[in-house]
Amino acid sequence: MAAVRKRKRYRGRRLRPQFILFCAVMLALLCGLVLLVRRAPVFRRPAETPSATREIVETPEAKENDVPAGFVPAEGDIHAGSLILVSNEHPYTFPAEVELVTTLEQNISGYMARDYSVKQEKTAFAAFDALFRAFAATTGRQDVNISSAYRSYDEQQEVYAASAAENGEAHAASYVTQPGCSEHHTGLAVDLTRYDVRTGHSYDFTGEGEYGWIHTHGPEYGVVMRYAADKESITGIAEETWHLRYVGVPHAAYMAEHNLCLEEYLDLLRSYPVTNPLRCNGCHIYFCPEGQLVVPESGDYTVSGNNVDGFVVTIP
Ligand SMILES: [Zn+2]
Repeated sequence: MAAVRKRKRYRGRRLRPQFILFCAVMLALLCGLVLLVRRAPVFRRPAETPSATREIVETPEAKENDVPAGFVPAEGDIHAGSLILVSNEHPYTFPAEVELVTTLEQNISGYMARDYSVKQEKTAFAAFDALFRAFAATTGRQDVNISSAYRSYDEQQEVYAASAAENGEAHAASYVTQPGCSEHHTGLAVDLTRYDVRTGHSYDFTGEGEYGWIHTHGPEYGVVMRYAADKESITGIAEETWHLRYVGVPHAAYMAEHNLCLEEYLDLLRSYPVTNPLRCNGCHIYFCPEGQLVVPESGDYTVSGNNVDGFVVTIP
């Protein structure tokens, strides 16, 4: 009996390690299987099913500052670019360098510039040049004269003081922006007159008659009449038929089509993030808040600050 009991106890002790080993092997196999099942679709899905890839691009259910597929984070200057808003509320930040060209040193024809002090930002010059050449070619009129374009801080101060001295402070406040707050600081704006070379007289550019062509066709060249009569309550500036501003082609075209001034247009763009861009004239246009700029990983695009709170990216 003693021997039997002994053998029974002995068998009981041998069974336990075997069972533990069996369980460990089964558990390892199970874990391996689970891992294989979980990992397999991750490798296969993007490569083999394009619909799954598209779904990732078009419906990123990500947090606001997550970067969607095809885009990368970037750095930018919100105070620079063709769409910056410069006004009494949003003064210009003078950069170290702006690429300015002297208008009369370019090979211009079909229009004039007052003198060699008339300078324009390089890209804006090209747009205005094309616009004024086209106007002359279409109408035969060659008396459009750029009376003023880029202005330094000191030059704007002189313009403001001269206007106040001549017409009073109230008039100056309505028509001339404070030094540091003028679009003319950017080199993206021009003032026009009509200049009669035979008499040497200058006339206001009212945009009446055939000259209306410049206002009507400006947007095709990226140019808008910046201060319209019906937008005075928004811009804070009375109608200026002679003051034109370069903003870029798709933007000017959209603004003209929907009768939006720059303030309204930049407001509208804030509702078009990278995941839902504004589609116009074959372009995709989207807004990025400051510090959250994302740009396409490849291909053409331009970035402009809005001089307020973010960036506008344009993909042609
Ligand atoms: Zn002006």
